[in-house]
Amino acid sequence: MSKYQVNDNGYYGDFGGAYIPEMLYPNVEELRQQYLAIIQSAGFQEEFDQLLRDYVGRPSPLYLAERLSDRYGANVFLKREDLNHTGAHKINNTIGQILLAERLGKKRIIAETGAGQHGVATATVCALKGLQCVVYMGAIDIQRQAPNVARMKMMGAEVVAATSGSKTLKDATNEAMRDWINNPVDTHYIIGSVVGPHPYPDMVARFQSVISAETRKQLLEKTGRETPDYAIACVGGGSNAAGMFYHFLDSPEVKLVAVEAAGKGVESGESAATTVLGREGVLHGSRSLLMQTDDGQVVEPYSISAGLDYPGIGPLHAWLHKTKRATYASATDDDAMQAGLLLTQLEGIIPAIESAHALAQLEKMTFAANDNVVVCLSGRGDKDLDNYMKYFGF
Ligand SMILES: *Cc1c(COP(=O)(O)O)cnc(C)c1O
Repeated sequence: MSKYQVNDNGYYGDFGGAYIPEMLYPNVEELRQQYLAIIQSAGFQEEFDQLLRDYVGRPSPLYLAERLSDRYGANVFLKREDLNHTGAHKINNTIGQILLAERLGKKRIIAETGAGQHGVATATVCALKGLQCVVYMGAIDIQRQAPNVARMKMMGAEVVAATSGSKTLKDATNEAMRDWINNPVDTHYIIGSVVGPHPYPDMVARFQSVISAETRKQLLEKTGRETPDYAIACVGGGSNAAGMFYHFLDSPEVKLVAVEAAGKGVESGESAATTVLGREGVLHGSRSLLMQTDDGQVVEPYSISAGLDYPGIGPLHAWLHKTKRATYASATDDDAMQAGLLLTQLEGIIPAIESAHALAQLEKMTFAANDNVVVCLSGRGDKDLDNYMKYFGF
């Protein structure tokens, strides 16, 4: 078995596991016992593939960006997750989890969301399947993200404000946990990245692995080789990167590059570069790297992109970092905004600011002339227009 896959105890090397309050044990244990059998069953795979095709619009194209390629002196391919229904990779995971929830007999779905992207992806699949949906969101985030709140409500979700603490993502996560403890029988909790207690990181990585499965086939058609020289993706919790890397993990010739958000600079005190600033500890139910003070308090992260503004990374990434299988780089707000503008002007594609962090890495690398480079374009930038307008003064 690959050393980069989760083991039977739910660990990637030193990282992972399920560090949960005792009252959550039955819920997580039910998932752990059933998830593999369900997602490997023929019926599940068939419905998953059909929805990814007809509802999400997969396979997402692998686009050879010629003007970007000219600039960097390599063949730069963009994996177009931005073209998915709802505008990002997150829907791959929520489709997978709603099908799982149905097969577990769950009638009610809960989720937590920060900027609202995962909340929207969850509300979407609940509308699709006619399941009740409750999304916990920090009271401050509800004010900051009005369009996403409206989308969720329009799709029939109930958006519940978390009013404790800093009234942001971590407080919404606490509320969702409390809900799940109180509703263990009929409710499934959809986590939005490769984080949380085992089996979530593995389950989410499997659902997102469609990204690299498609990329292998598309590269073979376009280049005659299934593997690229480089695969690059941004990392918040790490789900689009996990999906982009998954089927290349055991192909050592593929150099994997993950890009974290440096915010205003890694040393500025306003950053989300977990592999540089973080230490080992437990966050949201698993052992990983996280940004924390000397006495173990979680440090507030910062990034201009809401999706990368997370104080940890999933346990798979902590392991890929520790084993040096992947390289972890970072891009500042400024790097990302410039890279987002550049893609827009060279290719006519406005990327999500999260994805622009991955693109920013191209500026810092040197390539050989025939290198094939795949960048995961995790989402589209429509949601970020306000930010782009403010930053560039358009
Ligand atoms: C949420 C989000 C991310 C960050 O999440 P990961 O789990 O690290 O992939 C990246 N890009 C976009 C467009 C997002 O919406």
